[in-house]
Amino acid sequence: MMAAFRVSDKCNGCLGCVQNCPGRALDFRDDGEMRTLLHNPTRCARCATCYRVCPEHAVEFGALLEDRWEEFASLRILRCRECGEPVHTERLPDALDPKVREFVEPLCPRHKARATALTRRPEAAAASPLARGGAQ
Ligand code: SF4
Ligand code: SF4
Repeated sequence: MMAAFRVSDKCNGCLGCVQNCPGRALDFRDDGEMRTLLHNPTRCARCATCYRVCPEHAVEFGALLEDRWEEFASLRILRCRECGEPVHTERLPDALDPKVREFVEPLCPRHKARATALTRRPEAAAASPLARGGAQ
């Protein structure tokens, strides 16, 4: 995933941003010959002090202020076998107790309620398109 806080290659490592960050959201690590700047988004107040104090205009702050959603997982979904409405992810039943898992059907709430009602009223079930496999 692309980090929202970014510093361009104009950064000279002066640590002005680290020293002036009120949230202590910036830090650095010296490792061998290399200095690495660190940012902790949990502590970041998005106050833009780092942006203002940077003498090289290296802090690319815009991405932190964008009102956008970042994708972090993409999972295959199962759809209601009657109407095609998304029901849950394909992997969700794996998290259930095996005794429960066998009863989980790919049905939306509307068709699940209808199927349950038909189970309770066998005479209605015989007449229902659901029971014959038809969509409703
Ligand atoms: S926006 Fe403010 S809190 Fe966040 S890293 Fe910059 S100076 Fe620190
Ligand atoms: S203030 Fe600017 S130049 Fe200095 S370390 Fe931070 S990003 Fe780099």
